[in-house]
Amino acid sequence: MALEQIRQQIAAAEAAAGRAAGSVHLIAVSKVQPLERVVAVLEAGQRLFGENYVQEAAGKWPDLRVQFPDVAVHMIGPLQTNKARQAVELFEAIHTLDRPSLASKLANLAQARGQSPDLFVQVNTGAEPQKAGVLPDALDGFIAECRALDLPLVGLMCIPPEGEDSRPHFAMLAGMAARNGLKGLSMGMSGDFAAAIAAGATHIRVGTAIFGARDYTKA
Ligand SMILES: *Cc1c(COP(=O)(O)O)cnc(C)c1O
Repeated sequence: MALEQIRQQIAAAEAAAGRAAGSVHLIAVSKVQPLERVVAVLEAGQRLFGENYVQEAAGKWPDLRVQFPDVAVHMIGPLQTNKARQAVELFEAIHTLDRPSLASKLANLAQARGQSPDLFVQVNTGAEPQKAGVLPDALDGFIAECRALDLPLVGLMCIPPEGEDSRPHFAMLAGMAARNGLKGLSMGMSGDFAAAIAAGATHIRVGTAIFGARDYTKA
């Protein structure tokens, strides 16, 4: 299946970049995919998945975790503050921390629960008005705020602008993470994950290249 080819491409990209085998985590983005495709990928051994919608994840993963207890699911879509409580119960990591109101909500939940998912700060590297993410200029201040709240920041995430060369955005994100002492780099999708690995990605988010096209009319 496509998953095996992606694994080989990841291994080749790791080797080409002089990186250790297995240093890149493949997040299989299962949003809007039919359940049978998700189960097929689980049966092929994949255990790390990404979802964009709290509601969809809530309808799918609690059941799948019964059968596949060692699975991890990461939230990679925009997170509304009023869904944060549900999100911290569903996900091992959230890649889309992008504003102070969400940071303080997650901090309150972490205090109350005594645990928190790992958190990536989403950066709007292209400063696109319609896109979520902290603007590059505001990032260091926002990270300081999150650290003051004791949030478990593990890295940065970006979605480069459509139709642009991703590489300068990946390089920018890597520089911002290094400057802030963050090891995690969530970057690279179906079309550009090899370039992301070359730029230091630790988590690549691959959907269509594994599962095939998404059919939003059935979502
Ligand atoms: C849907 C999505 C992906 C996967 O995109 P593909 O092009 O299908 O690989 C990755 N990251 C985010 C944030 C997404 O929303």
